[in-house]
Amino acid sequence: MRVKPPRPPRSLAGPGAGPRVTAASVSWHSAWMHDVIVIGAGPVGLACAIEARRAGLSALVIDKGALVNSIVGYPARMEFFSTPDLIEIGGHPFPVRGYKPTREEGLEYYRCVAAREGLDVRLYERVTGLRGERGRFTVCTGRGEHAARHVVVAVGFYDVPNLLGVPGEDLPNVTHYYREPYAYVGQRVAIVGAKNSAAKAALDCHRHGAEVTLVVRGPSVSDKVKYWIRPDLENRIREGSIRAFFDTTVAEIRASAIVVRTPDGQRELANDWVLALTGYRPDYTLLEELGLEIGGDEFRTPVFDPVTFETTRPGVYLAGTVCGGLQTSRWFIENGRFHARQIIAHVAGRAAETVAFDRIAWKTQE
Ligand SMILES: Cc1cc2nc3c(=O)[nH]c(=O)nc-3n(C[C@H](O)[C@H](O)[C@H](O)COP(=O)(O)OP(=O)(O)OC[C@H]3O[C@@H](n4cnc5c(N)ncnc54)[C@H](O)[C@@H]3O)c2cc1C
Repeated sequence: MRVKPPRPPRSLAGPGAGPRVTAASVSWHSAWMHDVIVIGAGPVGLACAIEARRAGLSALVIDKGALVNSIVGYPARMEFFSTPDLIEIGGHPFPVRGYKPTREEGLEYYRCVAAREGLDVRLYERVTGLRGERGRFTVCTGRGEHAARHVVVAVGFYDVPNLLGVPGEDLPNVTHYYREPYAYVGQRVAIVGAKNSAAKAALDCHRHGAEVTLVVRGPSVSDKVKYWIRPDLENRIREGSIRAFFDTTVAEIRASAIVVRTPDGQRELANDWVLALTGYRPDYTLLEELGLEIGGDEFRTPVFDPVTFETTRPGVYLAGTVCGGLQTSRWFIENGRFHARQIIAHVAGRAAETVAFDRIAWKTQE
């Protein structure tokens, strides 16, 4: 039987306006027992809630930020690497104007899917802890408590940047998130990193009037950079329009300079802004607060059953990119969206299908 949760205190959603989103301005205790609470309203969290409702289970999604908060934080007009069919959820077609979706098309797509599915979503409500056991959990948030029989943790990895760990990293001219080039017009910008985000930011800033210096720890631009981006960047470096230091690390950041360790010794470069685009990691503090076990492997992979995605805390499941731990290039939307089916089959008491990683773990191939 499909059970409808009680109406939350105040709904922001007009008819067809969006998912049933609750204003998070009041603290309250929801005595309603949800079959499933999903922590994280990213694409994979939404896919889990859709799958749960289709199995006749009640599902509440809670996010500390906006709907698909990570994508909201992506660079403006960013193009996904995936073709739209590979990041669809709930079987809803994802029409796009070009070949690949843009960030803005993605935001609109996931918003429309959540609305069409009538998902129950609470936004701007941070989950801080989890009490209880399978069948009677209490999910603690900054605004109250919610009861659930099962909990799916789909918190991604985009909230905690990998820090350089150097003096000056906390200065206001340093950021770990790139949004758009206009703040950097006519400015000297050091970009640290050599993967896709750094490569795209370097080209974008250069093409919008910034003086770009790329600081790369390895000997070359990463071979993980997409084939259509890498030659563009390498040619700009070769012609001298982007300056690059390889085998180089940052020693210190100052308000108007950056100190780097190059193979030829330490150098101080005049500089205005630093974009430290050195990747992100799951919020391990949160995972530990939720009582989840972390493996002792080099990627600090959270421990979960590869078929059901249940963690060693019975009734608590992991889904999406967080499953890879520090190996953030293992799970994407493309393959993480399939976790939903396996998790909800187990929650609903059906046999979860064993899916070989290779069968779903493709990335857009071109
Ligand atoms: C720039 C960029 C481009 C990418 N392009 C692609 C692509 O083309 N194709 C692809 O398949 N993948 C891509 N990815 C990788 C990945 O698939 C996406 O990051 C995707 O958003 C991950 O989905 P997710 O649902 O697992 O996690 P997320 O989308 O990160 O969702 C996690 C959610 O959990 C919330 N959350 C975290 N902590 C809490 C808390 N304590 N309480 C409540 N909520 C919390 C966050 O606010 C967030 O909304 C890209 C990643 C980046 C960084």
